[in-house]
This record gives sequence, C-alpha cells and structure tokens, in this order.
Amino acid sequence: MDQNQNYTQLLSCQLKGHSLETVTVEALASRGLAQLRITGLPDTWLRDSRDKIQALAAHLESWNSLNRILIHILPADEIKNGAHLELALALACLIVLNKDAWTEQRLLELKNYCFIGHLSLEGKILSTPLIEEIYSSANLQIVGPNEYSSLKELWDDLRIEGYPRTQKISKKERSAPVEVFDPVPFFGRVRERQLLALAAITKAPVLLMGNPGLGKSKLARWAYSLIPLQRKVREEDPFREIPFIAPHNRSHLWEFLGAQKGNQSQIGIFSRAHNGILVLDEFAELNRDVREILRTILDHKKVQNFARGRMNHYSADFWLIATTNPCPCGNSQPLGINKCCCPQHVIDLYSRRISGPLFDRFGIKVFLSAQNVTRESLFGLPIDPQDWDLNLLAPFQKVDFVPCKNALRRHFPQLTERSLFLKAQLAEVYSKLTRFQIESTETLLFIKDLVEEEETLLMRRPNYRNF
Ligand SMILES: [Zn+2]
Repeated sequence: MDQNQNYTQLLSCQLKGHSLETVTVEALASRGLAQLRITGLPDTWLRDSRDKIQALAAHLESWNSLNRILIHILPADEIKNGAHLELALALACLIVLNKDAWTEQRLLELKNYCFIGHLSLEGKILSTPLIEEIYSSANLQIVGPNEYSSLKELWDDLRIEGYPRTQKISKKERSAPVEVFDPVPFFGRVRERQLLALAAITKAPVLLMGNPGLGKSKLARWAYSLIPLQRKVREEDPFREIPFIAPHNRSHLWEFLGAQKGNQSQIGIFSRAHNGILVLDEFAELNRDVREILRTILDHKKVQNFARGRMNHYSADFWLIATTNPCPCGNSQPLGINKCCCPQHVIDLYSRRISGPLFDRFGIKVFLSAQNVTRESLFGLPIDPQDWDLNLLAPFQKVDFVPCKNALRRHFPQLTERSLFLKAQLAEVYSKLTRFQIESTETLLFIKDLVEEEETLLMRRPNYRNF
C-alpha cells in the first residue's frame, strides 16, 4: 500500500490558557469496515461527533462500504477539546476520500490555513464563543464560520480552486466594543477617585482601607469606568473585552492559580483577569497562600504551574484593587455609635495579615475617612477624571521613569526601590497632566501626601484607634 495515496494532514488550533496552539489533524484511509475512528485524546464531544462527521462527509464524497478512516490529532499529550475542531476533521475525511484530486503541492498549500468550525447536521459551519476568541487572538490565517457558511461551500472552493477564500472581516465589523461589566455611578470622594484614575493609568495596585459601609467596594467597582482612560494612554485595542473579576474571599488557591483536570489545563482567576481588573474584596480575609503568592504574580505578571513534566506559563497582567477592613469587626476607626469590640491582639493579628513586602507592592494605599471628613481634591487636576487632558501624556510604554525615580529618591530616601518606582510613575503622570515639574512643590506635595498616608497606616497598623 502506498501510504501517501491515502494520507493527509490539516491544521487547526486550540486555546491553551491565553495562547493559541496549533493542532495537526492527520487522516488515513484504509480498507475495512466503513467507519471513522478518532485517536489522539479527543474529548467526549469530539468522540460523539464521529457519526455526524461521517454522515456529512459521505454526503459530499462517496464513502463506500470498505472505506475505513482513521484520524489522529496531534500533539498527543493534550486533550483535544471542543466542537471547533469538527470542521478540520470533516475536511480531512473529504480529502482522503477524494485523494486522487489532490497533488502534493496543493496539500502543502492547505497547511497555510487553520480550519476551525462547529458543524451542524445540515452541514452549516457554526461559531462558538471559543471560536470568537480564537478569531480575536489569532495571527494565523483562519478559515471558519466568518468566511464560509457551509461545509459544502468550503469543499467546493477547495476542490475547484485548491485554496479557501479568506476575506478577512475586520475586527471592527465583527464585534462592537464589549462591556462585560456596568460601572456603578459614584458621587463624592473626589480625591479617592482621582487617585484611582492615576492608578488606572499607571496600573499601580491599589489598597483601599476603611470601616464597612464607607463605599470601598463600590469605589472599586466604579474603577471599571476608568478603562477607556487606561486604554487611551496605553494605546490598547479598544475592541478587546476587558475582564472584571471579583472573586469572593473564600476562593481556594487552586481557583486562583488554575487547575489541571485530567490532561486539560484550566486557567485560574489570576489569568482570567489578564488585561483587566482584579478586585479582591476583604483582602485580609483571603486565604493566606493566595495573598503571599500574589506577590510573585504582581512581580512577574505570570502564573506558573507544573504539569505533565513541563512548566506552563499563563499571562496574568492585571490591575489590582484590594479592599480591606482595619479589624475583624471593621469599626476600629471611631465613627459615631459603632465602637470596635475587637481585643487589641486580634487587631494586631488582623493587620499583620498584609505582610510588609505585600504592603510595599501597593502603589496607592488609601484610608477612607468618614464621608463627612472632606479631603481636598488633588491640586491642579480637574475634579472628574473624564475631563483630564490625556493628550498631555506621552504613550505610557515609551516613558523613561528612571530620572523621575532618581529625583524622588533625593526627597524620599526612606522609600524602597519598588515603592520609589511606583511613586515615580504616579508623579510623572501627575506632573504631565498638571504641567508642574517633577521637583516642583506641587508634585512633591502630592507624593509627600501619599507617603505620609502610608507611613501613618504603617505606624498605626497594630492600632487604628487613633487614626
Ligand atoms: Zn474591631
């Protein structure tokens, strides 16, 4: 038997974490009972679609009673999940059934394309949310539901022309900007909102502390409305969906890191928040391991897990907003009738849950005072961040923060390098927006205020009663 006569290969792909992985679909026709077999770890879905694919292929090309087709999907150690591989499988069957019409050259050219699509019994090529995601993240030449509506249409083109039509529908036409979360309107707390907007631009992690009922969580949710600001300054794709992830504080470590289920890796909360916002309410109540591992993730912007003999990396570059009460009862800041009932050692233990190194990684730490204690808005900035003139800012990626950092080091020698860097980014953005120099009194006062607030928090950490 000349194997080449009966063998073919096609490409498809699947998502692994955030990255696309090409999948090779091999098909071999042999003599035997008319049937289709799939190997190479197909998931239940794909195994169930055997009959459908066989019926569809038999409809378009003659599948006689002695044609047995074996399909193998590579790479072999990864479960092939999802309905989107069906199109490539059906095409591979059609090609081996009609092998005489395909020269080596034409088969080679087909490898420039990546076929994805879910098939209906009627032969229509359908889309799924996963296919949408692949379209938006792929730089491969994809052929799927956006180009063809039915298997027959695609097969006709392939048979006659030898290659598929790939009129790329632009991203813009395909999907309008997607809002996955409705920001809540927020009034008052001008200074805090301005600080959040500055942090949105620099993506500095934010820690909001305060008694319950002062609007910490609401403020964190309001931050979603700062996304357009962030995108504009950072020149990010305006059509990409922005994840807003707010897990509850009893989530397990594996939910955050992702898990290995059989041969399939599932990404966790940290990676799901990639390129978006991660809100961690009641931060001090979170699992200790999550809090500590967060340090590494904030530094490397990646989640690593070790599975099946290799290290997997998933991107996790998010803007973190954490909120926390100052003590278990939440009332250690005296505010009228609610008095703190926690013993001193409990407050001490509670505040120690946010370790020094972790505390250091928050670029902005704000203690929300009672609403009736008005705090001045940031000098020189329009009250509403939406009114800020973003044209004054250079594209964020191109700014060199080192000179600014060195300038700040002279004035705030007590800060760590990491803290200095975070402050330098904030100072740079503030000074650009207000047109004050870096070492002007105004900019230095802005940073001094932030540093003093932090130092007060640090010094009083065991006891907020006198705050
Ligand atoms: Zn208390």
